[in-house]
Amino acid sequence: MSLKVAVFASKRYDMNSLTDANNELRTARPDEAVEFSFLEPRLDSTTAALAAGHDAVCIFVNDVCDREALEQLKSNGVKYIALRCAGFDNVDLAAAADLGIRVARVPAYSPDAVAEFAVGMILTIVRKYHKSYSRVREGNFLLDGLVGFNLSGKTVGILGTGKIGLLTGRILARGFGCRVIAYDVFPSKQAEEYGISYVDTLKEMLEQSDIVSLHCPLMDSTKYIINDETLGQMKRGAVLVNTSRGALIDTIALIRALKRGHLGAVGIDVYEKESAYFFADSSDKIIYDDNFARLLSFYNVFVSGHQAFLTDEALKNIADTTLSNLRAFETKGECVNEVKA
Ligand code: NAD
Repeated sequence: MSLKVAVFASKRYDMNSLTDANNELRTARPDEAVEFSFLEPRLDSTTAALAAGHDAVCIFVNDVCDREALEQLKSNGVKYIALRCAGFDNVDLAAAADLGIRVARVPAYSPDAVAEFAVGMILTIVRKYHKSYSRVREGNFLLDGLVGFNLSGKTVGILGTGKIGLLTGRILARGFGCRVIAYDVFPSKQAEEYGISYVDTLKEMLEQSDIVSLHCPLMDSTKYIINDETLGQMKRGAVLVNTSRGALIDTIALIRALKRGHLGAVGIDVYEKESAYFFADSSDKIIYDDNFARLLSFYNVFVSGHQAFLTDEALKNIADTTLSNLRAFETKGECVNEVKA
């Protein structure tokens, strides 16, 4: 009998990619295909009962898998949680272990997708594509206010040189002729061949960079790593891009820095309280988060809705890995992508 999987917070692109991957599997190995139920609501303790009759749930970054939700899942017969993302900060792993629910993730679905998006975001805010797009559609062909600067020869600071940070640095060094410097608590041996050189401290990196791009994970040690003090260490007029996790930046400190004109431009694909708005159409709703509304109001801030990962290739990798994670749990009893407390 095939495994029954309830996919929470599912969007059209999730349905398409998971269904395609499952159909491919059905053709190649019919007995390994699963049965998906695509559900619109996010998983939390109030929606967990929708998983009744399923062996597994498949969830994303803003589903809330706390102890209460996990207890509900357990009582409804759920054995596995398949995260269709890399981060697992939204799952209470200790509670999952207590309840005997196994959890797996997709560790890397497409570092290129995020790196390419980060570079695109830098170009957008430096060369102001978004402004010219709207202007020209309104019949305004004036160039005033659209002056940018060349990336060639500029210094870019990469915070966190893991999979995504290294690729972002490589595009900027090899493609644009930037001087790319980086700070990481665990420097990578690959950095040099990618055209990236390390500095010893975050302060040094911030002081020297014309553009700073954030690529470290969100942990206790990195929460608000961009704050009043570190923003003050950045060059006046510098550009800041965050495609990693919202809470790397203290939003109130960022607003203060923007208001005093310290930053040239800011691009964010993530926001510390994004779960209230992202991945949904909020165009007919009031934004009650005043800090978010203030950020959206700055002429030199560009915001996208956690979109950096969203490519065909990434969705295919997420779908394939999710299916192989579930099969591994069910057939082998173990999974290389399992996450434990
Ligand atoms: P990774 O684990 O390969 O690399 C993270 C790097 O950060 C490591 O080299 C690590 O040593 C470094 N690091 C940790 N703490 C640090 C600190 N205090 N200072 C400096 N460096 C530090 O991760 P990755 O695959 O490159 O992904 C990076 C982040 O991108 C993820 O954590 C995730 O939050 C984010 N992400 C965003 C999207 C999106 O759609 N916007 C998609 C995927 C991943």
